[in-house]
Amino acid sequence: MKRIRIAIDGLSASGKSTLAQGLAKSLNYLYIDSGAMYRAVALFALREKLIDRQGQLDEAGLTAALDRVFLTFRFNPVSGRGEMCLNGRNVEMEIRTHEVSRHVSLIAKVSEVRNKLVRSQQQMAESGGVVMDGRDIGTVVLPDAEVKFFMTASIEARAQRRHLELQKRGRKVTLDEVTANLTERDHIDSTRHHGPLKKAEDAIVIDNSDLSIEQQFEHMMSLVQDHLNG
Ligand code: C5P
Repeated sequence: MKRIRIAIDGLSASGKSTLAQGLAKSLNYLYIDSGAMYRAVALFALREKLIDRQGQLDEAGLTAALDRVFLTFRFNPVSGRGEMCLNGRNVEMEIRTHEVSRHVSLIAKVSEVRNKLVRSQQQMAESGGVVMDGRDIGTVVLPDAEVKFFMTASIEARAQRRHLELQKRGRKVTLDEVTANLTERDHIDSTRHHGPLKKAEDAIVIDNSDLSIEQQFEHMMSLVQDHLNG
């Protein structure tokens, strides 16, 4: 059986990663969370004080420091997925904070950051058998991916889902703050010059506002199977 590349792009908190992980697990493919890589660079910038109190980024400073950013995924047999490591240290928890979410889109606008991460994502997908999720996977990172999905959902559904997730992790953040963050990220991500959030022409749109995870999974898996059998 050939091992294909599956690209899943879409709005923030549209359920991409849950479905991407589910598909990867069923197919025995590698799951690559490209958003985790941008989040790890944002964490690095915050730690290095390259973002000031007003939220201004020292872009030249970050560009100059990028060769000190070494990103890897380390497989965790308990969670069954690769966890983000920044310079050898597991940062999977730290990159999911509201603080990182607030600054990540600013970091993701920087061309040098995108060039570095896109290259590394392309290398990871080289031998196929991958499901990668993000914003520019079907358009820039893997334009030749055999199957592409573009996921969308209403802002209400996305904010509620993300708010619940953060609450479960014991994070104190209001639904309004989550809604504002998702709206802002979607805006910055879709209007940036380099690698904007955009549906690839050949991507299949999945609107999951009113679909359960199981329904979405069945639908996406059957489209992948059609491709593999076709
Ligand atoms: O997927 P997630 O919401 O964790 O991504 C966090 C942020 O990383 C996005 O809001 C976006 O700014 C950036 N990102 C990106 N390109 C990708 C994946 C994520 O710009 N391929």
